[in-house]
This record gives sequence, structure tokens and C-alpha cells, in this order.
Amino acid sequence: MKGLVLEIQRMSTEDGPGIRTTVFFKGCTLACAWCHNPESISPRPEVQWVGSRCIGCHTCVSACPKKALAAGPDGIEIDRDRCDGCGTCAHECPSTALELLGTSWEVEKLADEVEKDRAWFEQSGGGVTASGGEPALQADFTAAFLETLKKRGISTALDTCGQAGREAYEKILPHADLLLFDLKVMDPSLHKRFTARKNERILENIRFAADFMRRKGAIMWVRTPVIPDFTASDTTISAIGKFIAENLDGAVTRWDLCAFNNLCRDKYKRLGKDWVLGGHELLEKSVMERLADVAKNSGVDPGIVFWSGSTKLET
Ligand code: SF4
Ligand code: SF4
Repeated sequence: MKGLVLEIQRMSTEDGPGIRTTVFFKGCTLACAWCHNPESISPRPEVQWVGSRCIGCHTCVSACPKKALAAGPDGIEIDRDRCDGCGTCAHECPSTALELLGTSWEVEKLADEVEKDRAWFEQSGGGVTASGGEPALQADFTAAFLETLKKRGISTALDTCGQAGREAYEKILPHADLLLFDLKVMDPSLHKRFTARKNERILENIRFAADFMRRKGAIMWVRTPVIPDFTASDTTISAIGKFIAENLDGAVTRWDLCAFNNLCRDKYKRLGKDWVLGGHELLEKSVMERLADVAKNSGVDPGIVFWSGSTKLET
């Protein structure tokens, strides 16, 4: 059994308690307008061109067996309809200007790789987080990976957007010590407009997952991305808080409001995609503080509300 992994990120402090190694799986069925990992959405390997590294030798153009590459006025152009993600161009490029996104891993080998960070986990109370993309779309692999880590005494977490079949969570959750579950917006039509999907399945799954984690005595956090022009509103935050209070009582020990960041602008450029939020600045600290107050007054235990992320520099 193999899993398609985008990236292994070490020394993460944002994906659960302590110092963590986060494995980003490839493939997601949502298409959030603000996605910070656009290279994780496709469930297939993809190639990206990093112009600043390119020396213009055009080795890649002749190496591509699908004739998917061409030298254009602004650099190497990729015909993504022709490209099958074989990786030949990335292998042949002498300056690492072409990168293949998505690597197949076997469970034991991936576990060996992340176990190299065991000392950090033990010193900090951290562990390994399966994130994405959406790891629940590779449920058999993710379940086997987390089970292997548990057998090796490593703490595990699943970070999910909730858009997967119930059976995926039935397979994975028994092997997760912590569940990080995204709630982005409650209104189904807004959810569809912002993410390309309605949220019925997500809400069904979070109720199931909360009940499962509660009975197991395990930890669950909810995370809400706070995005200008999308989710950064009193109405959205208040509605999410009401849902948590009425449906997830006793299961959720932390609700994080995660401030928008624009560091992924270049990722969209490298993939040849436009980004609707490319011109947006960071939010002001006062906005995050106000929304945190809204969250604390929404019906949840105020002690579970936190906000994080960079905000606009104040002058
Ligand atoms: S092989 Fe690499 S360095 Fe040469 S043109 Fe292609 S991307 Fe640029
Ligand atoms: S990944 Fe393969 S098919 Fe795609 S551009 Fe590179 S060489 Fe061509």
C-alpha cells in the first residue's frame, strides 16, 4: 500500500501540541478560495517551475516525453493537459528549477522518516500530524500510518477538512490521539460559494467524530480560517460558536481562529493559477481580537477560544 505525500514539514508548532512533524497528503475535494496549499489539491503528482532557479538551458523541453513543455517569453510553460506527472523534467533539470510535487511512500518507510524526529516529540510533548490536502481521502494508508506510529509510541493527530466518507473516519480515528477539524462557515450556500461544496457531509462527520473522540477520551480541536471578504465576519464566527456549543459539547477543548496569511502567493504563480486573494493584506490585530471576543460570547466555554497567525504591522 502506498500513499501520495506532498511534503514532510518538520518542527511545526501549529498542527497540534508540542513540536510536530506534519505530513501533507496530496488530494482534496474542497477548493477553498483562500487555500494556502494549492499544490495539495490535485490527487496526482504535478510539476512546478521555479523561475528564479532556471538557467534557460531548455533541457526539460526536449526531455519531456509528452511534449508538455515549451520555452515561452516568460520562461518555461507547462501544458497541464498533456503533463502526466512522470517527473522526467524534474530529474533532468540541472538547476532544480522544475520540481515534482507528490511522492509515493510505503507506510513503514514514511514512519521511519518521521521517527527521525522522535527526540523532539519526546522533549516537547509533540508528535506527528497527518494533514493535507485531505488525508482522509487516502484513508487506508493514513489509518495504517497512524497505527504504525502508535505502535512505535509516537503521538498522532489527524487534521481534516471533514469532506470524506464516514468510513474513512471510522478507519482513521481509532489511531489518532488528537483530531483537528476545520469549520469554515455554517451557511450551506456560502460554504458552497467559498469551497465549491456544501457542508452537510462535513457537519455529519464532525458530529460523528466528536462523539467518537469524546467516548475514547481523546482530544479534539476545531480550527476556523479567518479570511477577509469570506469568513472574517461576526455572523460567521458567531454561527460556528453556536454550532460547537449545541452539537460538540464536551468534545472540543480548543477552538482556534487562524488569521489569513498571504505567504502562498508564489505557490499560485508557480502552478500557473490566479489567486482571488493575491492582492489582500494581512488582517489587523484589532480585527482578530474582536472576532475572538465574538467567539467567546457565542455560547462556547470562553476558555477554549484562541487566535493565532500574523497580523498587519501597526504604525
Ligand atoms: S531544464 Fe531546468 S534550468 Fe533548463 S530550462 Fe528547463 S527548467 Fe530551466
Ligand atoms: S512531469 Fe513528465 S509529462 Fe510533465 S512536464 Fe515533466 S516530463 Fe513532461
